[in-house]
Amino acid sequence: CGIVGYIGFRDAYPIVIKGLHRLEYRGYDSAGVALLNKDEELKVYKKAGKVSDLENFVKDIDTTSTIGMGHTRWATHGAPSDRNSHPHSSGNRKLTIIHNGIIENYSSIKEALLAKGHVFLSDTDTEVLIHLIEDIQSETGLDLREAVRVALNRVIGAYAIVIMSEDAPDELIAARKGSPMVIGVGKGEYFVASDATPIVEYTKNVIYLNDNEIAYIRRDDLLIKNIDNTVQTPYIQKLELQLEM
Ligand code: GLU
Repeated sequence: CGIVGYIGFRDAYPIVIKGLHRLEYRGYDSAGVALLNKDEELKVYKKAGKVSDLENFVKDIDTTSTIGMGHTRWATHGAPSDRNSHPHSSGNRKLTIIHNGIIENYSSIKEALLAKGHVFLSDTDTEVLIHLIEDIQSETGLDLREAVRVALNRVIGAYAIVIMSEDAPDELIAARKGSPMVIGVGKGEYFVASDATPIVEYTKNVIYLNDNEIAYIRRDDLLIKNIDNTVQTPYIQKLELQLEM
């Protein structure tokens, strides 16, 4: 339902939480965040309920990280619950994903992955996609960028996703098909969100990702490719949107 991500030089968690509050008007049943701790380990915190419940849950934890992402979920596959909340992680816990939309062919992919020994911790379509990416990596040795691209070619449905990885701790990977995704372009920092409201107070320069595009986002570098592997030239627009502070 709602997506916010940040990579740059500021502390990501407050930006992500504020962004999730900005997106609350869309409605949701659960909220979660992913951060990297100082040892570059992925940390995921998620809860059924309000963004404020998530904040209380995380209250005593060191959330310092200059990369992070958060999600508010509107359940389509799997009841609203802590374990069905996003982010969802791969079996090796090195990859984690947030997702808006529906993976239509998740059950056939899940069956194949179950047969290969994958263990799932949720009832969501989303978790299947991150396990598929992990599986492609371990089968083919592809790097994460390519594994995400190959996986998205196997997926039917609508999605806006953001992925974080321990193996690429300085990168967010975002993609969309049929579900909106905006990238905010700063100086040495980028923002991603499912609409511009979480971004507008930080930068007016935005890129609306097109269907079938994947963005590989580093602090000082942005590469956008089509899922057929052609490099896209990003079109930076000026936001007109004003927001009450
Ligand atoms: N289909 C996913 C789920 O049920 C994502 C729902 C959403 O867009 O929030 O978890």
